Amino acid sequence: MMKKLLSGRSTVIKVCKFGGSSVANAAQFRKIKDIVNKDNERKIIVASACGKAYKEDHKVTDLLYLCEAHKKYGMSYDDILSLIETKHQDIIDELDLHFNLKEEMDKIRDLLKKSSASDELISRGEYLSSRLLSIYLDAEFVDAKDVICFDYDGKLDIESTKEKFLPYLETQKKIVVPGFYGSLPNGVIKTMSRGGSDITGSLLANIADAKVYENWTDVSGIYVCDPRIIKDPKRIDIITYDELREMSYMGANVLHDEAIFPVKEKDIPINIRNTNEPDNEGTMIVSTADQASMPITGITGKKNFAVVTVVKSNSSSEVGFLKKALEVFEHYNIPIVLVTTGIDSFSVIIDKNDIDTAIYELANNIKIKLDCEDVSVYDGLSLVCVVGRGMKSKLGMSGKIFSLLGDNSINIRTISQGADEISIIVGVEEKDFTNTISSIYKEFVL
Ligand code: ASP
Repeated sequence: MMKKLLSGRSTVIKVCKFGGSSVANAAQFRKIKDIVNKDNERKIIVASACGKAYKEDHKVTDLLYLCEAHKKYGMSYDDILSLIETKHQDIIDELDLHFNLKEEMDKIRDLLKKSSASDELISRGEYLSSRLLSIYLDAEFVDAKDVICFDYDGKLDIESTKEKFLPYLETQKKIVVPGFYGSLPNGVIKTMSRGGSDITGSLLANIADAKVYENWTDVSGIYVCDPRIIKDPKRIDIITYDELREMSYMGANVLHDEAIFPVKEKDIPINIRNTNEPDNEGTMIVSTADQASMPITGITGKKNFAVVTVVKSNSSSEVGFLKKALEVFEHYNIPIVLVTTGIDSFSVIIDKNDIDTAIYELANNIKIKLDCEDVSVYDGLSLVCVVGRGMKSKLGMSGKIFSLLGDNSINIRTISQGADEISIIVGVEEKDFTNTISSIYKEFVL
């Protein structure tokens, strides 16, 4: 029997978002057609702007930003517009589509003449790719500006979006919606942050009570660790939203951060799939999952952190000591990544990209403000994050990781375990970064 959905509909819907590489040229459009026609439940299609078809190629969104920059400095942007035009014209010609691209390019030229249309200009990549895709799929084009609503403060207005979008679900056809943009209450187009088409897809999956949100890209799911570090790493079959959040925070670049919340709210799984390998089932991202067969789901990490260590005798009994130090970081507007504490010392870990050379000035300010014996800065730290819901029930996991790293002559400079026990972060010297990840992978995953 069909599940009665919250929206009152009884049909099952899948939302499919196709990223830039999936709409990069006519060959990719053909793959999309095969994918969506293979499954009637694939009703809502969200498209990014055309991405790179080959290594030296350009993403249309980048080209639009470039046009804007040229305009700002009074330079000609005609050649860049020609690149955008050719990229779309090639798709039109190869797929024999009826579409007046010249008219659309003239509108883009008009937008470039205005001073206040920047978001609309940047959104034209998604608009064009989605118009072409809807013609090619014989689907209904639903402009994001008519259905994706923002408040004046820039937040997505889910209720208004729902009201505007739900009636379109009545159509028998499939629907194509451009990702990445929507409109303010006065109708002016507003774009999201980069990679925002992921958010559009997630939002529409929420509104349509989708069975699954398929995110089609150019990799066959999420890997246990970065393929640049481990050749052909294992694919993660199932990962929870919480595990993914830990992995993304520590460097895994899978989905736009904000894309998780709308689907998580309704328990809708996200399926990361590969347009170039559609039979591969990819990775499922879910709310809760059974105990994993392996303790570790993923290993990720980032380089380029600095550690500021503050030492003061008897500071453990001084109320507000840590607070005073953290206020100095706040003064410099630096987000704190981790804090580790000892009895009479503590260390604050920050991302070096957030501070630059002011770090020594900051350390000096802490020394003066807290009147402490020593403040030192170590700036060659990398963090490796081991994530796994299976670690909770596995006794001695952190001990095993530490002795493994010791056996591999890797010096651990900091340790931190999340309160929910699904992640352990170890700070190691930058020279040991790759070796740390590969040792953990070989021991616990292979
Ligand atoms: N085209 C936009 C970007 O390049 C949005 C997206 O692809 O999701 O960031």
